[in-house]
Amino acid sequence: MTDIVILTGAGISAESGLGTFRDAGGLWSEYNLEEVATPQGFARDPAKVHAFYNARRANARGAEPNAAHRALARLQQARHGTLIVTQNIDDLHERAGSRGVLHMHGQLFRALCAACGQRWDAPDIMAPDDPCPACGARTTRPDVVWFGEFPYHMERIQARLEAAALFVAIGTSGEVYPAAGFVDIARAAGARTLELNLERSAGVFDATREGPASEVVPAWVDEVLAG
Ligand code: NAD
Repeated sequence: MTDIVILTGAGISAESGLGTFRDAGGLWSEYNLEEVATPQGFARDPAKVHAFYNARRANARGAEPNAAHRALARLQQARHGTLIVTQNIDDLHERAGSRGVLHMHGQLFRALCAACGQRWDAPDIMAPDDPCPACGARTTRPDVVWFGEFPYHMERIQARLEAAALFVAIGTSGEVYPAAGFVDIARAAGARTLELNLERSAGVFDATREGPASEVVPAWVDEVLAG
């Protein structure tokens, strides 16, 4: 069975109405990254950071998976060696039916106690004085990985990249490391590499197909399943 590793980024959720970060009009043109997505920003003003993620959570709850998320779930069901690694903190892959998705930047719908490491389902509205259900500390944060923190699941991802026959990057600008380096790891280990994106990114791939994810991803999945 061919092992496929798929990396998704904000672009796969763009047509579900969730903003990307770096495109014109993206979230980073509206918000200051240093203030809302760094440990230092959270230490300075936790209420502002919670308000930012509360708004993201509300947006994500109102969004629906699109044809690209659904096509990947279809691929996973037919090809059990398919792993989805996502930089997205939304839950649209899961709601489309995908399983075992590795959220390397954490999950919007999970909360984390900075004191004891307990994780639980995040309420719609989080606030700085929410107590941890395990230890009672008032150091609750969203379970997301901020700039300057280590992404999750890196050892498993590295091992799967090294075993992959095919690596596919979907809707990611290739500007945020370590995810931007996955294509190089996979190629060095012998995988074929493919990019599906609105426009070609900075990464070097064997092939690129340009277009909106809701069109190019289902078309590619159909080809894989037909072959
Ligand atoms: P990015 O904003 O840097 O890049 C988005 C990429 O998607 C661009 O290359 C753009 O050309 C492409 N794109 C835009 N619309 C598209 C469409 N309809 N179809 C296909 N491609 C499209 O996003 P990134 O590379 O994921 O950056 C990484 C960071 O962004 C991560 O930290 C991630 O956690 C975060 N992020 C997540 C969400 C989410 O969870 N939905 C949303 C915004 C940003």
